[in-house]
Amino acid sequence: MQLVATLPTALRRLGRAVVDGVLPPRCLACGSTVDNVDALCGSCWAAITFFAPPCCAVCGLPFPHPMGEGAVCGDCARQHPSWDRARSVLRYDKHSRRLVLMLKHGDQTHLAGAFGRWMQRAGGEVLAGADLLVPVPLHWTRLFVRRFNQSALLARAIHGAGGPPVAADWLVRRRRTPSQGTLGPLARARNVRGAFALRPGRSVKGRRVVLIDDVLTTGATAEECARVLRRAGADYVGVLVLARAVRVGS
Ligand SMILES: [Zn+2]
Ligand SMILES: [Zn+2]
Repeated sequence: MQLVATLPTALRRLGRAVVDGVLPPRCLACGSTVDNVDALCGSCWAAITFFAPPCCAVCGLPFPHPMGEGAVCGDCARQHPSWDRARSVLRYDKHSRRLVLMLKHGDQTHLAGAFGRWMQRAGGEVLAGADLLVPVPLHWTRLFVRRFNQSALLARAIHGAGGPPVAADWLVRRRRTPSQGTLGPLARARNVRGAFALRPGRSVKGRRVVLIDDVLTTGATAEECARVLRRAGADYVGVLVLARAVRVGS
């Protein structure tokens, strides 16, 4: 009788020991052992900048000190983007770059789950009342080579963490654009102009959509996608990205 009662507990304990032994939680960035899953170790955590309030009410650019409710940064005051509101989880710099590239090129698709949960938490203001998540698309030739679209992976992970449904193929890339890597802001904007379209038969009229991307640098891609969604009648366009570049001095 005693044996029957304790056996399941013993098995459970053994099972957990086996799981812990085989898969100790690893730092997402460097792979060193950590206490919790989906976590960074102390030194990676300290190196990566997570955005936190106070920040620009429109684009989420962090402010060095509180500026009051609804305050916007200089860029947003000069020209309001085509999207309504943007937020990002972390600063895109040499420390976070590795993490972002692991998702993009390293086939580390399990990372998407952790990033999606971070984005869902950081993007509360952008996601509030949203109907659809729209990942920024890759051109099919690039998708063919890479086999997955990192933005779609992130969108699915955000949905998995309690976010709205994903409209994975609603936005399409009509032409293959050269890599934005070495281009300045104006060239980037020219590069992506007219590159995106809404897939025929899909409608965002009257809907609240949130664009999902891995990195926001000059914002040219998000701006172009937001214009397409606006022209198609979207009521609200949010932008939620994993990492955002911040210019020195802003
Ligand atoms: Zn680490
Ligand atoms: Zn701003």
